[in-house]
Formats: sequence, C-alpha cells, structure tokens
Amino acid sequence: MYTIRIPKIIKFGKNALSETEYPRNSLVVTTAPPEVSSKWLAKMGIKDYLLFDKVEPEPSIETVQKVISEYKSKNLSAIIGLGGGSSQDVTKYAATELKIPKILIPTTFGTGSEMTTYCVLKFEGKKKLLQDERFLADMAVVDAFFLAGTPEAIIKNSVCDACAQATEGYDSKRGNEFTRSMCKAAFDVLYDAIIDDKPENYPYGSMLSGIGFGNASTTLGHALSYVFSNEGVPHGYSLSSCTTVAHRFNKSIFYEKFKEVVEKLKFDRLSLKIPFDKAADIVMTDKGHLDPNPIPVTKDDVIQLLQDITNGRL
Ligand SMILES: [Zn+2]
Repeated sequence: MYTIRIPKIIKFGKNALSETEYPRNSLVVTTAPPEVSSKWLAKMGIKDYLLFDKVEPEPSIETVQKVISEYKSKNLSAIIGLGGGSSQDVTKYAATELKIPKILIPTTFGTGSEMTTYCVLKFEGKKKLLQDERFLADMAVVDAFFLAGTPEAIIKNSVCDACAQATEGYDSKRGNEFTRSMCKAAFDVLYDAIIDDKPENYPYGSMLSGIGFGNASTTLGHALSYVFSNEGVPHGYSLSSCTTVAHRFNKSIFYEKFKEVVEKLKFDRLSLKIPFDKAADIVMTDKGHLDPNPIPVTKDDVIQLLQDITNGRL
C-alpha cells in the first residue's frame, strides 16, 4: 500500500495569487522587507491582516516561539507563509502548534516546500529536518508573479534544486508509480522551461517536483551536496555537480538531460576545503538520503565522486 500526502487545496497558474480569497484576520509571515512585501500584499488583495516580517534566513525554533507567544491571543483565522523556505517553515510549525490553518505562498521556487510535510528549523544552532503530516498546507498558492523580482542567481539555483529533487525522487527506493509519474512530469516541465527559456513554467514544475519527491525522498545527489553547503555553497548550486555525478553513478535515465540542464544554466566548478576522506565520512552518515538510493554506496564511491565533482569530471 502507498500513501500520498499533498495540501488540501492547490491554487496555481496565472492570477492564482490575486484571484485567491484569503481569510480575514490572518497573520502573514515573511522575510521580505516592507517595501517588497507591501507590493506582494497589494497584488494578493488581502484585507484585515497582521504582519510578522522578522523571520531570519534559516530560522530557529525561537522565532517560531516568538510568533506563537505574540499572536496566540489574537484569534487568528490562519497563518500565511509568504516567502521562501524560511517563511514557510516558520508558518508550518507555528500554525501546527496553534492548530489553525496554514496557507503557503512560495515566492522563490525550487524547494517545493509548499507541497511537502517537511519543515527545517534550527534547534540550538543546528539545522534539523522535521517531517510531520500536520505540516502540510491547508492551501498552497503557486504563481509565477514573484519571478520578476527575483535575482537571476537565486532563480538558477532554485530551478536546479527542483530538477535535482524531481530526478532523485524518481530514482528513490521510497517512490512508487504515483511519485514517479509526478517526478517525471516535473522534470519534463522544468527541462522544457530551461532549454526553451520559459522561466514562467518553473513554479509549476517545482510544484510537481514537491508532490513527487515529497512523497518519496531525494537520494545520493543531496547526500553529497551537504558537505558543500557546510562551506557556504548555495543548495541548488551544489546540486548542479552533485546530482549530475550521482545520476552517472546510479545509471539514472535522467543523467544526460540533467547534465544538459546544468550546462545551459552555467554553474562554476565546485571546490571543497575539507579533505575528501573526512567529507566522505560525513556523507556516509546521511542514511536518510543514502538508504533510498537505488544502488548501495560505499565510502570509496563517495571519495571518488567528490574527486570527480571538484575536478569537473561530470
Ligand atoms: Zn533540495
């Protein structure tokens, strides 16, 4: 038996943001400064809302607790996470604790977080990946409106993440026929959008990717990427090489096309400060990504893959 978990309502496509009705007395949670969020809120046409715009990037559980204590007596009808992953993660956790509906509106695309049961927060300074059915959005609103104001580098990294998640998700041993259909459809949409320069289709592709991998998992590419993230490399950028070599290793049906996408997006070669041996030890502890990898991975394999990544042997 398989179980699929997705948000109750998904609004997507042109004008989704402005045509959706938002409940009155909602709390909007965002990382964006007022000059940016005011434009977004105007476009939404939302009325009678409260605004919390003090979410820091990579938020901690303390931020969530601050939201809860500041607003628990305000009789909120919903929390709306308006922003990238950080705003959404705070919303997922706070609304779950307050037992009120959550509406997720991604302004950057790629994580597919608006579709998933995942929530990443810092506990005592360390990032922790939580997963709970209750983190699912009651409603997600996916609209390409936000792309226009997003820096090119962020769009590029985000779409690379979406491609990596779709294709690793397809290969995951935790997947099933449904997740593979979603992951395949996601990559088809993203591949066409990247190759034919149609970025307005990125949000839809990313949404499909979230439905697919969010009900399966990511695999070796993501496992390899975190040693680069630890050295400050943006997530999507590190996946450009990590997922490519992982697909080669796994003999994935997506290897050639993924490589094509990475070449089109143009990423610089990665480098690693810590020794390969030490990095491989860290990668090997990542059972969450390695166990569902279609082919068993040894430490020697990881060392070889890290060497290939830093040598540009994709
Ligand atoms: Zn990712």
